[in-house]
Amino acid sequence: TAIIEFREASKTFGTGTETFTALDRVSLSVERGEIFGIIGYSGAGKSTLVRLINALERVSSGAVVIDGLDISTLPEKRLRAVRRDIGMVFQQFNLFRSRTVFGNIAYPLKVAGWPKDRITARVTELLAFVGLTEKAWAYPEQLSGGQKQRVGIARALATNPAILLADESTSALDPETTADVLRLLKRVNQELGVTIVVITHEMEVVRSIADRVAVLDGGRVVEVGTVFDVFSDP
Ligand code: ADP
Ligand code: ADP
Repeated sequence: TAIIEFREASKTFGTGTETFTALDRVSLSVERGEIFGIIGYSGAGKSTLVRLINALERVSSGAVVIDGLDISTLPEKRLRAVRRDIGMVFQQFNLFRSRTVFGNIAYPLKVAGWPKDRITARVTELLAFVGLTEKAWAYPEQLSGGQKQRVGIARALATNPAILLADESTSALDPETTADVLRLLKRVNQELGVTIVVITHEMEVVRSIADRVAVLDGGRVVEVGTVFDVFSDP
């Protein structure tokens, strides 16, 4: 069953004659438990699509349905619960410089009001999962790029979201580190059952990790299918 569904979703910016269509009647569905890749050049509409999924923007027409809930018409108050079920991983990691690895991973749990003992238990478990137990007290500047992104992934998973959005999450990393982070994302998918949407301009990333892929171009989905179908020559 679909966990994310775009139904003829369009997003237009501006008013009057000064309008620009960033997404044009996009329809796609991400199945629960899969790794879904979204690939496209700069300006294709990838960020807009991400912002529609995590409810930072609303569609101009059509609908976005998350876990059976049409979020295009949902009141702002109820969007918070939807956002809580979606973990975000970023290109530039977005870690707090002034917080330790532990503190960064604990942050969303503090915000959610978890008691201290449960936070400690959860962060300890996540540190082990991403292989950074010995770095608990390090600060981000003491970490390699790959380690920073593992912290980013642990933080995104802290509240146990059903969906992980990885937005250009390997674009700042070298190929070897990229492979490492992709292996971790694969484990997140297989061992934790998290549905992952990988947004990237890097074909190789999608090819190596995704089950299915949608190709965005000029705000439209121009192709969607299995990685094999989309990337094999006609
Ligand atoms: P990508 O992430 O694939 O680079 P974006 O979703 O950022 O693409 O942008 C798609 C198009 O929509 C671009 O031409 C961009 O300039 C335009 N766009 C995105 N956000 C806005 C906005 N807030 N106002 C006006 N135009 C926007
Ligand atoms: P901040 O409160 O500014 O985020 P830190 O990032 O240093 O500060 O740590 C966050 C909180 O987690 C602190 O209250 C600290 O006592 C606790 N903490 C940090 N690391 C550990 C750890 N390895 N085991 C148990 N508690 C920890």
